[in-house]
Amino acid sequence: MVVVMKVGATPQEIEAVEQMVRKVGGAPHVVSGVLRSIVALVGDDERFLDLPLSTLPGVETVQRIGKPYKLVARELHQAPTSVRVGNATIGRESFALIAGPCAVETPRQALAAAEAAKAAGATILRGGAYKPRTSPYSFQGLGKPGLEILADCREATGLPVMTEVIEARDVEHVAAVADALQIGTRNSQNYALLSEVGRSGKPVLLKRGFSSTIEEWLMSAEYIAREGNANIILCERGIRTFEPMTRNTLDLAGMIVAQNESHLPVVVDPSHAAGRRDLVEPLARAALAAGADGVMIDVHDNPSEALCDGPQALLPDDLARLGAELAKLAQDLGRPMALPES
Ligand code: PEP
Ligand code: MN
Repeated sequence: MVVVMKVGATPQEIEAVEQMVRKVGGAPHVVSGVLRSIVALVGDDERFLDLPLSTLPGVETVQRIGKPYKLVARELHQAPTSVRVGNATIGRESFALIAGPCAVETPRQALAAAEAAKAAGATILRGGAYKPRTSPYSFQGLGKPGLEILADCREATGLPVMTEVIEARDVEHVAAVADALQIGTRNSQNYALLSEVGRSGKPVLLKRGFSSTIEEWLMSAEYIAREGNANIILCERGIRTFEPMTRNTLDLAGMIVAQNESHLPVVVDPSHAAGRRDLVEPLARAALAAGADGVMIDVHDNPSEALCDGPQALLPDDLARLGAELAKLAQDLGRPMALPES
């Protein structure tokens, strides 16, 4: 960390900074410029963070040097991490398709979506039994019966299941069924929930909060990793901007930055980013071309009747076509499509 002193700060004010740093075992190094001085702090950054340095007289700013995230940072872990979800792998070595219904509505609808996902080449089935909805009057998901339906879909298709958990008290029973837990955008900074999914040991897909910076997103991942669970897949799903014509704004630059900053795999959800069926295919292709490690796509066999997010759901045939296109593009880019493993 570096403490930047105000122009004209007195030697006594600089000395007060040095003393505060020394008290917690740090070594201050004063660099005197023509106009102002800076004090570089050598030692354990964590201890300096709690010091009220910025309140001392003569201090202009206190700047952190280095990354606040550690366990998920590429800085400390150069090799990319691959995350195993059931019999599937998400990582740099291949491009994965994750697909399924936004919400589990009925056994028939969920199975139709699961079969569509499988037929399109998906290696992981997504689907929500617990739905965090903006309106309390909207369909909130089937809850436990929805989990059972997902388990039946896994049985029928062989696809591992990824499903959202929205409360810490649900983690245990959701983790008992799911192959991977999803943390949605609204819960991206629910730190108690993040710690709980970290403790579950299950792979976690962590969506970016719709108003989170990349650093905040990675700090959320750090909460999970801090519990000893590094099986984290980051998911860029669009952020809120001033633009109302799309549900969110897909931040592909953010996806790339997250990949550079972290060793964790990063996938893209064009369905929730766009909120519009017509944009899902071009955005999925863009995500692949930009180097994402996979895409997550909503599918429904009757979107106009869907209880959740129908306007963004692809029909099974559209998903099949998209799966084939992605496989071809992946091949052209020298990046194989992820295949089911045993
Ligand atoms: C979802 O994937 O079903 C979902 C609710 O997504 P998000 O949290 O990105 O809105
Ligand atoms: Mn949804």
